[in-house]
Amino acid sequence: MFHLKNLIGGELLDPKDGGWIENIEPATGDVLGQIPRSQAADVELAVQAASRAFPSWSQTSFEERSACLRRWGALIANHAEALIAAESQDNGKPVSLARSVDIPRAQKNLEFFAGAIEHFASEAHIPADASHIHYTHRKPVGIVGCISPWNLPLYLFTWKIAPALAAGNCVIAKPSEITPVTAWMLSQWATEAGFPEGVFNVLHGYGHEVGQAIVDHPQIKAISFTGGTQTGAHIARTTAGQFKKLSLELGGKNPALVFADCNFDSALRTTLRSSFANQGQICLCSSRILIEESIYPAFRDALVEKASRIIPGDPTDETTKMGAVVSAAHRDKVLGYIQTAKELGATVLCGGETSPAPNERCANGFFIQPTILEGLDAQCSINQEEIFGPVITLQPFRSETEAVQLANNSSYGLAATIWTENLEQAHRVASRVETGIAWINCWLVRDLRTPFGGVKASGVGREGGFEALRFFTEPQNVCVSTGNGAH
Ligand code: NDP
Repeated sequence: MFHLKNLIGGELLDPKDGGWIENIEPATGDVLGQIPRSQAADVELAVQAASRAFPSWSQTSFEERSACLRRWGALIANHAEALIAAESQDNGKPVSLARSVDIPRAQKNLEFFAGAIEHFASEAHIPADASHIHYTHRKPVGIVGCISPWNLPLYLFTWKIAPALAAGNCVIAKPSEITPVTAWMLSQWATEAGFPEGVFNVLHGYGHEVGQAIVDHPQIKAISFTGGTQTGAHIARTTAGQFKKLSLELGGKNPALVFADCNFDSALRTTLRSSFANQGQICLCSSRILIEESIYPAFRDALVEKASRIIPGDPTDETTKMGAVVSAAHRDKVLGYIQTAKELGATVLCGGETSPAPNERCANGFFIQPTILEGLDAQCSINQEEIFGPVITLQPFRSETEAVQLANNSSYGLAATIWTENLEQAHRVASRVETGIAWINCWLVRDLRTPFGGVKASGVGREGGFEALRFFTEPQNVCVSTGNGAH
């Protein structure tokens, strides 16, 4: 049984009022340990520590900040096996996924922003008569809050804190209370990486308590949030009067558009992955599979055949392809959607139930079969609301226009995946889908320099590359007269 602590001002501390939350292993339902149930008083302590640290941290050279991030990345590499095991245990994801995606990407995030800050230079503008020189002085925002979800715990946590620290801010971070362990491990190595005390602080606890206190604190000048759309809307409402900088990366209801001329095998293989990777709990997962009528029966049958063969297993088993969903509450929410789909008359092509425990150890775990539904109206809740589990719907379309209409028939706009061998159609459809990301004949291919984020209810702002560094800095225009014109 572990006992996590907050990191405040370089010290690992219990919560001030002594409240604790149980941390549950999704694959077994067992209590793994306890985490601090932090409150506003802990946020206050962290803000004080960050305020003391900010004047000198914001003046450190970019080389120094970059070196801290690189050392931290190296510490992730040194502790990779422990982090992989912890991420899989805490989240329920297959250990193979934590090994191939989560932990390498967390390391990469730190290294990437260590490099990005070395290339992030000010702009200057000089008019033709050289009468004045304008330059942009980018200053760190100050103390910033970074709030991340449970589905890709360390991956998304580092994706926020790395650019914030690289740009010279002091950070108060809150990982999801459902998956806090790897953020806690990272927090233990912050001093060894070279961060002065108070520069990086981690508070554990519930979103509506400590998360809200971070959002509300007047000295926290920017909030970078990844999570559900309802929470994002709530944060936007509650911060409106304070004019904080906000970056909101929210939910999705992502379409995959499968045209008749696609490379069938490649579309099939990747759609299976884009639907069910991480138990369907990636904001970028495809959840509405739109298939051109002429190949609908063949594509549906092949997809169902492959999905039926995915048997959720013990996440610690290296051969497991699908693990447990993250919590009992989340399992029940996903099963509730499946029940609604049945009541709405959906045909359940495969899955539709909890999955039997893979072994005795996992007897009380939270396992759901990969589920494929057809026959649902495009407007119904199952096709409109984010389920965030191993559940997809199939819908046929007759023309490119109809495919784009169906794809855009959503309040969300995060990512679309387009499968066609027709080059012109691919670009045309990409330009017409209302999403922040469009993948053509691929999925989840990321280049960390590109802008990442959604439109409509999927969020506001972009992360990634210089976009993230711009968010975590305040640009000031400085204008200098050269004495060669008007004053
Ligand atoms: P939530 O919105 O429930 O929570 C996200 C984080 O915010 C958690 O740390 C949560 O804490 C915290 N939080 C909750 N309420 C508040 C509040 N009032 N003030 C401040 N913080 C708060 O999302 P989930 O953790 O359930 O994550 C799943 C969602 O995240 C899905 O909708 C998914 O699509 C989205 N997501 C979006 C991504 C993107 O890049 N667009 C990427 C990954 C996920 P606690 O856990 O204690 O509630």
